[in-house]
Amino acid sequence: METEKIVYGPVKSRRLGQSLGINLTPSELKTCNFSCGYCRVGVPSKGNFETEDFEKYEWTPGNIKRAITTGLEDHARRETPVDYITLAGNGEPTLYPWFGEIIDHLLEERKKYLPDKPTALFTNSTTLDQRAIKESIYRLDRRFFKLDAGDERAFRRTNMPIGVDYEKIIQNLLSLTNYELSMAITNGDFPNYESFFDSRFLENLKKMQFTRLFLYDIDIPRTTSPRFNKKVSKEKLENLAEFFSEQLDKNIGEDIVILWEPTLRNANIPLYPLQLN
Ligand code: SF4
Repeated sequence: METEKIVYGPVKSRRLGQSLGINLTPSELKTCNFSCGYCRVGVPSKGNFETEDFEKYEWTPGNIKRAITTGLEDHARRETPVDYITLAGNGEPTLYPWFGEIIDHLLEERKKYLPDKPTALFTNSTTLDQRAIKESIYRLDRRFFKLDAGDERAFRRTNMPIGVDYEKIIQNLLSLTNYELSMAITNGDFPNYESFFDSRFLENLKKMQFTRLFLYDIDIPRTTSPRFNKKVSKEKLENLAEFFSEQLDKNIGEDIVILWEPTLRNANIPLYPLQLN
């Protein structure tokens, strides 16, 4: 097991600066219950995963823990510039069957080797109703919860979920506090922009107790779907931010943050491993 497949980077993150990634997904298997059209991991998801799926690729808790210890120790020794230690990677981190055990270990080793580095997680919000997962997530310093659609139709087209209902995501987000909400705004054949103006969605959004909302563009080389091959304009992100600002009585720049970059399409960005931010 190569440590670099599990502890990777640091990579440059728009939200977190130099982000040292922790990847809980085997290289050969995209473990996610979404198949987002804009996902950079080219392997199709199958949705349901068993412990055997991970063991088959030696992605066992023992191997992951060893890699985390080795990786953090190594970066500490080399004094690598790191701003955050981030669970992201090539799939949905919370679907890792031993997620809680890994969080315990990561926090112990972080204290030992990189004690001043905060931790973060990017999740697609599908497992937030599971108590053990939720408790582990809230032991981290920051958590970013994905919500890429304002209605079921846009959800199905954008995220292509496998066995997950849109309503479940909404209920998960309504039941929690102290998180940062992430909305990827897509373009191409299936833009999700209009769905965020839905009145029922707005009612729910007003009740959600997030601390900050990120609106961001998708503009990196894609491996899965040419249908998301157009970048959303900065103007559209600004319009949406203004609309939310009025509706939610929140400030743009502090509570609502726009992440839009000039095109990265021709930049030399490694496709793998992935950081979902
Ligand atoms: S972008 Fe994230 S949530 Fe979407 S399919 Fe890829 S790994 Fe899963």
